[in-house]
Amino acid sequence: MSHDRMPALFIGHGSPMNALHKNEFTAALGKLSSAIPEPEAILVVTAHWLTQGTRITSSKNPEQIYDFYGFPEELYAVKYQPPGSPDIAAMIKRSVNGVTITADEDRGIDHAAWAVLKHIYPDEKIPVLELSLDMNASPDIHYRIGRSLSVLRDKGILVVGSGNIVHNLQVMEYYEGVEPHDRAVEFDERVKKYLLEDNHTELVEYEKWGNISRYAAPTDEHYIPMLYSAALKEDGDSLEFVYESILHGSISMRSFIIR
Ligand code: ZN
Repeated sequence: MSHDRMPALFIGHGSPMNALHKNEFTAALGKLSSAIPEPEAILVVTAHWLTQGTRITSSKNPEQIYDFYGFPEELYAVKYQPPGSPDIAAMIKRSVNGVTITADEDRGIDHAAWAVLKHIYPDEKIPVLELSLDMNASPDIHYRIGRSLSVLRDKGILVVGSGNIVHNLQVMEYYEGVEPHDRAVEFDERVKKYLLEDNHTELVEYEKWGNISRYAAPTDEHYIPMLYSAALKEDGDSLEFVYESILHGSISMRSFIIR
């Protein structure tokens, strides 16, 4: 089957409470599907699944995982349960060169996918798969794995990196509307600039930026999915920010589409 070349997304997912909210962020997500050809399946590179090696969900009906604690009961009542696809997982394993991907039948779908996709594809019809982050891989290796996913754009697969460019829970503030921290703004703007300049070397080597990277990404799992998305940008593609905002002082919601 031939397909239109799919765009790629990066979504700054922020709080799982966005699954319930209606705000500017969820409104921006709601507009995305009209800009994207109908995907065969969605592959979410998630900040919330760290493994030895790279894994892909391969269950036909993956469980919806409520991978957070201490949130209101209504959040645990949110149902978003699209099918998975063992066949598409196998196709992805076959098609993507340069990285060994292990199929995982037991793993479900976490909120980095469902709290976001609920707003983009609310009808739960399109199969959703998740790709894990290899906890032993360097940013450079992650970027290269991201590039190797490029082939999927011609197979009807919508690749979605889901993390946050700035994600510091230690210093985050309770109120989402507080003035963004200076260092959050500086790091987020720097990433924005390098994304627009296609300076992926700087993005990959962000740890060399010094203290500011330790502030923005004290652990790297929310930053890394952005590298997967950036790596999918080819010559001739555009990159457009579909939402940008820093909430809770230290969480960047910056999200983009590549097409
Ligand atoms: Zn998260």
